[in-house]
Amino acid sequence: MTTYEALKNKYKSLSFNNIAKILHEIIDIAEKQDLSYLQFSELLADKEIETRNSNRKKLYLKKAKFPSIKTLEEFDFSFQTTISKKQINTLLDFTWIDNRECLVFYGPSGIGKSHLSQGIALKAIDKGYKALFKNSQELMEDLDLAEAHSQLKSKIKQLCKCDLLILDELGYLPWSRKSVFNFFQFINAFYEYRSLIITTNKPFAQWGEFFVDEAAATAIIDRIIHHCHIFPMGGESYRLKKQLEKQNLLKQDLNSNKI
Ligand code: ADP
Ligand code: MG
Repeated sequence: MTTYEALKNKYKSLSFNNIAKILHEIIDIAEKQDLSYLQFSELLADKEIETRNSNRKKLYLKKAKFPSIKTLEEFDFSFQTTISKKQINTLLDFTWIDNRECLVFYGPSGIGKSHLSQGIALKAIDKGYKALFKNSQELMEDLDLAEAHSQLKSKIKQLCKCDLLILDELGYLPWSRKSVFNFFQFINAFYEYRSLIITTNKPFAQWGEFFVDEAAATAIIDRIIHHCHIFPMGGESYRLKKQLEKQNLLKQDLNSNKI
């Protein structure tokens, strides 16, 4: 007759760690609810799947290296007039990731480009995709450093392990020719192989400015826009609006002698 502890160890040796942990609880439920063999087997499987999914999400979230957690639920679509909730919801079946397509959010500062990108990536993680957040300047420095150590190929290969890379704030500062060449290698590797979400404050026509020369910019843009959904964003800066609201409240408080 198998003892409880021995059974627990058997599950552990099969790496069913959650079942091993809550075996008592599951047996208790089965006895109290008089579960059939089929129901009991299903309960065991469900509990293990539940825990593995939750552990996987935690791990992917950690590996995504988001600067902060921004969700789509927190995004106020009534404030952002150029993009509708419906448009974003259509992206949440993630066929664009399966098809290796890219998204580009472009527009002025503070209007929610990074927030939307992270919100979408968070949902992608929920669905089982691996994401990685990178500020463009940071990515450029990583690629340049790797190239200096003759490790550009392996660095790019490592980046290709994610399904989706968020390239935030592309085009804020001009890059050297060498950096642009390294970036081109990266874009080439991702082209039709992995998905990107790019946020930028510059329209494609101005990308030549930070990619130093027009030819390099054209080669990079060609690959990005070949399979791409472009979302021009406009309106006021959310950041600025909230700051002004705060200042107005402060003024009102001062005028009414509350402070
Ligand atoms: P951008 O990347 O366009 O410069 P961010 O995404 O960083 O702008 O947004 C700036 C700040 O304003 C962030 O804290 C973000 O969460 C918030 N924000 C921007 N737009 C919205 C919105 N429509 N609803 C809720 N928060 C928003
Ligand atoms: Mg941003």
